[in-house]
Amino acid sequence: MLRPPPQLTVSEWAERHRMLGSRASAEPGFWRTSRTPYIKDVMDTLSAVHPARRVVLMKGASVGATESGNNWLGYIMHHVPAPALAVQPTVELAKRFSRQRIDPLLEETPALRERVAPARARDSGNTMLSKEFPGGILVLTGANSAVGLRSMTARFLFLDEVDAYPGDVASEGDPIALAEARARTFGWRRKAFLVSTPTISSRSRIEREYLASDQRRFFVPCPECGEMRWLRFERLLWEKDAPEKARYHCSACDYPMQEHDKTAMLGGGEWRATAQSQDPQTIGFHISALYSPVGWLSWEQITRDWEAAQGKPEDIKTFKNNVLGETWQEQGEAPDWERLVQRREDFSMGVVPTGALVLTAGAAVRRQSAATRARQSRRTSARLTSQGIPGCQPSSLRANVASPRVTATSAGRSRAGSVSIRTASPAMAMSSVRISPTRRGVPLARLIAVPGGKAAPCSSAAT
Ligand SMILES: [Zn+2]
Repeated sequence: MLRPPPQLTVSEWAERHRMLGSRASAEPGFWRTSRTPYIKDVMDTLSAVHPARRVVLMKGASVGATESGNNWLGYIMHHVPAPALAVQPTVELAKRFSRQRIDPLLEETPALRERVAPARARDSGNTMLSKEFPGGILVLTGANSAVGLRSMTARFLFLDEVDAYPGDVASEGDPIALAEARARTFGWRRKAFLVSTPTISSRSRIEREYLASDQRRFFVPCPECGEMRWLRFERLLWEKDAPEKARYHCSACDYPMQEHDKTAMLGGGEWRATAQSQDPQTIGFHISALYSPVGWLSWEQITRDWEAAQGKPEDIKTFKNNVLGETWQEQGEAPDWERLVQRREDFSMGVVPTGALVLTAGAAVRRQSAATRARQSRRTSARLTSQGIPGCQPSSLRANVASPRVTATSAGRSRAGSVSIRTASPAMAMSSVRISPTRRGVPLARLIAVPGGKAAPCSSAAT
């Protein structure tokens, strides 16, 4: 009798099959999930049997997060063979990832060594950027290569260090969206793993993805009172110039925890969602280096790094990104929103307030030189004069079309042009303006306005 292969989770697979060699690991030997217990759930949401389609991991350094991705790739190659795409920020980094991470993974794990032929053999199906195995293929590429992102359909996407991806790849758009489009044909069976250390607040993809997720945090028990809390840097306290005395203070009972308390805390920890996910099939994890296991990055070292960074904004940014796994808010980036809100004035939609002299509307002008833009805009004014607008009184229409002077300005080399419509006198009514500057005559913008704050008589034309 042949039994079907057992349905393992990624963490079970790693415990059974994964070997860590001295080449890529500081702690060679069998993989042990208990060393970094918080990684277990991250890996298990990546298992084929788990319903999550997108798994987001926003992380600090020294937490062993990279291995969760490696274990997943090993699990795919051995246990759920299918086409898989692993994306690094650049093709160069993908090559390095192949040499430093994938090759040791294949060589040191016996179950994988059997399945992927050595790269040295001719026609082995094993090159630096593509690894064939029975039932599937793993392709490695860079987010800077549109060709690489479009090269194949993939059931599994490993999107690593996404905050270092370019915003737009070869004018084809967002590399994450490009990669995810390749997985769509796999429907509910597809899975994407997005991992990154975050960077600058307004530009961080991983933060955006994490904030849209259910925002899981790893809650650990206080060794004194047992209260479950997630670790925050503010609770790591020390006397000035004495980082060796840094203790993590329980936010419930203030008990000062020491480095060696970590092991039991991590062992008793659990992930808890702190928000409602916008998409129920997206799960988000955040983990900082405060959770780094004993022997890796200590609280004392974190304290020293923080003290050393003082007075150096660039170093504080690096600390927040790499140690806390949090984004950095650039100075002057965010306006004081309360001051802005206080300066609001009250306007009604579609009504020109008294005293307004110029109405401006923006419209897209495609592939035209500045000169043609001006000509086209004049044509726009011609269309204005000849076009009746249903619902308007003839008098207001006449007033509207009598003398609007249309000037066109080119918005530099961009594809957008802007058209200003200047009324002849401040008292003149501008009941309705319709702008259709494209060749096909599709109206792109429409402005309904009446001077003096009266109700708009042409609002019915606004469809
Ligand atoms: Zn406590």
